[in-house]
Amino acid sequence: MDYFSYKKGKLFAEGVDVERIAAEVGTPVYIYSKATFKEHLKRIGKAYGEIDTTICYSVKACGNINILRFMAEAGSGFDIVSGGELYRVLQAGGDPSKIVYAGVGKTNKEIAEGLDADIAYFNIESEAELENLIRLAEQQGKQTRAALRVNPDVDPKTHTYITTGMRETKFGVDIERAQKVFAGYAGNSSVSLSAVHVHIGSGGKTIEPYCEALEKTLSLIDKLRSQGHTIEAIDLGGGYGADYESDTVPSAADYAGGIVPLLRDKGLKLILEPGRSIAANAGILLTKVLYLKTGGGKKFVLVDAGMNDLIRPPLYDAFHFIWPAQVEEKLVPHRRDRDLQLAGTEVVDVVGPICESADFFAKDRALPPVKRGDLLSIFTAGAYGFSMSSNYNARGRAAEVLVDDSKFAVIRKRESYEDMTALER
Ligand SMILES: *Cc1c(COP(=O)(O)O)cnc(C)c1O
Repeated sequence: MDYFSYKKGKLFAEGVDVERIAAEVGTPVYIYSKATFKEHLKRIGKAYGEIDTTICYSVKACGNINILRFMAEAGSGFDIVSGGELYRVLQAGGDPSKIVYAGVGKTNKEIAEGLDADIAYFNIESEAELENLIRLAEQQGKQTRAALRVNPDVDPKTHTYITTGMRETKFGVDIERAQKVFAGYAGNSSVSLSAVHVHIGSGGKTIEPYCEALEKTLSLIDKLRSQGHTIEAIDLGGGYGADYESDTVPSAADYAGGIVPLLRDKGLKLILEPGRSIAANAGILLTKVLYLKTGGGKKFVLVDAGMNDLIRPPLYDAFHFIWPAQVEEKLVPHRRDRDLQLAGTEVVDVVGPICESADFFAKDRALPPVKRGDLLSIFTAGAYGFSMSSNYNARGRAAEVLVDDSKFAVIRKRESYEDMTALER
């Protein structure tokens, strides 16, 4: 679900005509719907209401501090993967006791910052990291908690670049090794190793891999408890599907339907780290058609956004639904999916201006006819859109706009040439 919809052939973000935003802020521009973020958060909270759950929104999906601020106000915790993300969360007023920190390569500086902030859990990815955390906590005279990230060896059957829970991965430790780690370190007085973390990767379209991972992890927790260890919490990570195409992934309630019964009466607190399932369809990337061109029998729609703004199509082979922001009533899309067939469309490639053939948003896609100056919406761009953007080709990063009902505000200015060169002077 989301609050982007067509009214009389014009695309609205909540109560705001996106054309108005383009006129005031320019393009390309990321447009976010506050109500969509909050609704997703609320639905997840409701789905898991029966158990003690902390939702830690994954900052790397979309980490503008203005977004983090209203998420914190709505009760969200945060999943971070760097000192920079910790800084963002603290700037936004996030509650440190609801921060979990994952990442295979935490530096001493980053660990010290996490200790200073008194975050809830360090999610530990290796014994070497745990030893280092213990050393630094002792040095700083701090006490903290850690969750061991385990690999349940399940395959969510998505792109290999976003699969993280198989046995041969750089993330976490395998289930057998986990028992050794607990045996070696669980008694430490500075770092209480008292939780298990599992994150199998992102974008699966069924709940089965999650249930399988949870079952394997629960049997590990049973073993650990029988060996005398105290396990307070299980962190199930993120990766819950987002509707890049209408109604193609399980809802929060569907996931909870499989997960909650397995956790009943286990005496475990639950931590969730959803990123894309909250942010993805809470944002669009609005871009303008610069030129139309034909080459070798193909039609190209050249737009002013590029792979520096949204890299998901070339990086992950990701699908993003694309449609003009203004169309005749009969061309309003009733669904967003790759097979949408409407009379009057033509097949085109939507490409950006960057000097790379990987700079595309869609290939062989049916679109209503467009002309120079028309606006196109690239949907479901809220997660891993702006946060993965760059200055490649010396292009300033796009502006970010937050819509709240019938109002909108620029929450990050478009980068200027001066902004891009400031650190080089
Ligand atoms: C990226 C990440 C997430 C969020 O993944 P989504 O697919 O955006 O839900 C959660 N936890 C960890 C450890 C991650 O690395």
